[in-house]
Amino acid sequence: MIYIIYDLHVHTGYTKDVKGNYSIEDYYRSAIKAGIRGICVTNHFEYHPERGLVPGNTIMPEQIDTLIKEFDKARESIGSNIYLGLEVTFSRRYLRDIRKVLEDYEHMFDFIIGSIHYVKSYEITESYPPLSFFRKYSEEEVYKMYFREVEEAIESQLFDVIGHPDVIRKHAVKYYGHELEPSMYIKIAERSIEMLKEYNAGIEINTSGFRHGINSFYPRDIYLETCWKYGIKYITYGSDAHNPQHVGYMWREATKKLKDLGYRVVYYYVGRKPRELLL
Ligand SMILES: [Zn+2]
Ligand SMILES: [Zn+2]
Repeated sequence: MIYIIYDLHVHTGYTKDVKGNYSIEDYYRSAIKAGIRGICVTNHFEYHPERGLVPGNTIMPEQIDTLIKEFDKARESIGSNIYLGLEVTFSRRYLRDIRKVLEDYEHMFDFIIGSIHYVKSYEITESYPPLSFFRKYSEEEVYKMYFREVEEAIESQLFDVIGHPDVIRKHAVKYYGHELEPSMYIKIAERSIEMLKEYNAGIEINTSGFRHGINSFYPRDIYLETCWKYGIKYITYGSDAHNPQHVGYMWREATKKLKDLGYRVVYYYVGRKPRELLL
């Protein structure tokens, strides 16, 4: 069987969470070694909910041309199996700025992930848990506030897919010592799935939860099942690689999960247009 999946969530640099100094070519070689076809480079583009652009947390708009040059050079040596995108942090206050940058580079990017990294200016995806946030709100409130952000991100229509759709679990599951009770979870999360349908938007199945020690994909199974029920079509695979070793992480498990649910295709994006890949 020929496996043709792409890893559409790969960080290669520009922010401090990417430690090593690897080239796009290094990441691509890792993809081939992992048995997948290629990658989409999706570095962080982020406006902090209060402080805006913070060097180290985001590629700066003036660095985008450098990224594009770097990408073009990699493409010359690799060919067409690499794509260029961004992982954009959803930030209500800076939506206009985000829109402007995405428009300015409209023809440069293949794929845009929209991700929730903050709730009420608490960073929920940092390596350490946002304890003051968890102490202040109940478990239910935490999930509600998180999914409210997801809903708004979908509503903005700026993104092709929502990245790691329930990443609030990264710390919540460990902090509370359990997953949110399934019927409560889906009661809170279901509106976001309805909205994916309404706006014809997609999600990624992100395997980094297994690296974060919660032993699960983002989103969890019940979310994926509900997506299938609602007929959510656009699903991409992403390892959320922060070094070449992560590329293609658990892609076989991710595709098996989707197949078991009934999915027969996943998607990759070229020039912001979805293209099918048979599972
Ligand atoms: Zn992210
Ligand atoms: Zn990421």
